[in-house]
Amino acid sequence: MRSISNNNGSGNNMAKKNPPKAQSKNTPVSFYETFFEKRLSDLHKEGRYRVFADLERHVGHFPKATFRDAAGHPREITIWCSNDYLGMGQHPDVIKATCAAVQSSGAGAGGTRNISGTTRYHIELEKELADLHGKPEALVFTSGYISNEASLSTLAKLLPDCVVFSDEKNHASMIAGIRGSGCEKYIFRHNDLEHLESLLNAVERCRPKIIAFESVYSMDGDIAPIREICDLAEEYGALTYLDEVHAVGMYGPRGAGVAERDGQMHRVDVIEGTLGKAFGCMGGYIASTKAIIDVVRSYASGFIFTTSLPPGLLAGAVASVKHLKTSQVERARHQERAATLKKLLADNGLPVMPSVSHIVPLLVGDARLCKAASDDLMLYHNIYVQPINYPTVPRGTERLRLTPSPFHTDADMNALVDALCDVWENLSLTRAAA
Ligand SMILES: *Cc1c(COP(=O)(O)O)cnc(C)c1O
Repeated sequence: MRSISNNNGSGNNMAKKNPPKAQSKNTPVSFYETFFEKRLSDLHKEGRYRVFADLERHVGHFPKATFRDAAGHPREITIWCSNDYLGMGQHPDVIKATCAAVQSSGAGAGGTRNISGTTRYHIELEKELADLHGKPEALVFTSGYISNEASLSTLAKLLPDCVVFSDEKNHASMIAGIRGSGCEKYIFRHNDLEHLESLLNAVERCRPKIIAFESVYSMDGDIAPIREICDLAEEYGALTYLDEVHAVGMYGPRGAGVAERDGQMHRVDVIEGTLGKAFGCMGGYIASTKAIIDVVRSYASGFIFTTSLPPGLLAGAVASVKHLKTSQVERARHQERAATLKKLLADNGLPVMPSVSHIVPLLVGDARLCKAASDDLMLYHNIYVQPINYPTVPRGTERLRLTPSPFHTDADMNALVDALCDVWENLSLTRAAA
């Protein structure tokens, strides 16, 4: 049951079938260049060549930004696809803490964690995160991607004869970690408890097991049955590893995520999160038991052999986590805005996909059209929504993924819906079934 998303990042089967044949030792560089250009033209043909938008965000004007087109001409646009879900990247407390730490400690940390790069800011942030998740300890990484890759590969590799059970929609970083461990793995159908149980049941009881899954799945906006997965883990003696990247800061009374909201946090063995999305900064982490944190700290290559995060970033993250532990206004407004947008889209016959979270996906179903819709929104309406194509989502489910924030006003929403109706009309895109 290998899914498309579990093949994430490979997408080069053609390259494997037709490997480039270097003729001789003196093969000219242009031979390689031509080969890579061919691979790029494949992406263009499929309409999924990635084009980055040149953006300049401005403090105090979230979600507006200056966009510069290919010729360098600037104009003001509204961002509708940021993962700075709550605008915390420009919260006054976060900016103040970041600036103060840079002023007092400088730009960089000066080393890896082991060799002079552990600062008091690391210690403070890890305490803050352990407390957030009600775990004895936490460990900070340079990104959420690295935290998943490093932690999963290390844990699964160290456990003798370990088997990993992975949700088919798991993020590329978890897949990379599981692959990197080299251990046996089974992919269970998305959020499918019966399938998970049948796979667990087929493996010898005595073998160590890890169930790896996410809480909020960021492309569909659906949520895992955390309680039931923990029940299965208990029954079959498996360790639970939960990616709460799209939930931390946004769910639960203190912003610890969906496991907190659902009263299951104490049952999840490893909680992984990011500082780069709702917390508005950058970096990743895991929170877990003393031994698990210590073993990842001691064995994970992706944690050990890299310069640690700088003081400014860490101080900003501490301020952000602290703020969202007590403040409910951002979370409440965020949920209200998401619900309002979903209703507005549906009322206007736009094909909003079912989502029980703050994520608002709009189905297009074709890579070229998805890109065209995004281009037209930017060109004619000053609205920025990046197209989401394969391999991020399965082919045929290409979409625009909208992320409303507490700062998107009713006027922003009306402008968005008018623009979408116009684009849907012009490109003859499929409307929602009436
Ligand atoms: C974005 C993302 C990550 C990676 O987090 P970064 O901090 O951006 O590296 C991990 N898991 C999921 C589900 C994500 O969407």
